Amino acid sequence: MSGIAAELNRSGVPCPSQADPGRNRHRAGSGWTLITVRAILGNAKYTGRQVWNRQPAQHTPPHLPGPSRVQRWTGTDDWVISTRVVHPALVSESDFVAVQQLAAAATPDAPVHHYLFVSLLRCGRCRRLLDPCWSHGRAAYRCRHGHTSARPQHGRPRNLYVREDRMSAIIRELLAVMELAPAPAALADHLRRERLTVLCTETGCSLQPA
Ligand SMILES: [Zn+2]
Repeated sequence: MSGIAAELNRSGVPCPSQADPGRNRHRAGSGWTLITVRAILGNAKYTGRQVWNRQPAQHTPPHLPGPSRVQRWTGTDDWVISTRVVHPALVSESDFVAVQQLAAAATPDAPVHHYLFVSLLRCGRCRRLLDPCWSHGRAAYRCRHGHTSARPQHGRPRNLYVREDRMSAIIRELLAVMELAPAPAALADHLRRERLTVLCTETGCSLQPA
């Protein structure tokens, strides 16, 4: 969500309060934020249905169909959503539901994972920095070589994947400080101080100037 906000700001897309200051007097208008993006992605009205009870103060406008016939979506237990489509939809229902599932995984209550080697590992195949990813309960890094689709595609090179604990051992060896056995965090500090990155391939790793 913060990535979407950053991209909108970079592209000069006006945020809601810049686009319509009259309706958004209580907002600062200083640009897109994670909170604005989250509010828009979570607004079921964009599916074309009327939604009640998202916030306690909300009331049912008399001219709209009442909540007598309702349906429920996963994770939205308190919401009351009209079965009828009452205005033009901007997103499909399946997209909306898929986004809610993604957003649930990114709520402030979700556990925060820490990664030591962010921006220190580079893919030997495509030269992109490896992305941190949480896998099987531990920190890891991967490169999808610029592809974003989750499905494997014909002719596409295999993702590069390295576990953080394995990477610590490799970096310790590359820095030839085995006898000191510094903690992984100290290895990361050392790489940053010396302005080094680790070039990673399926077959081995090497140190490079950052
Ligand atoms: Zn790559």
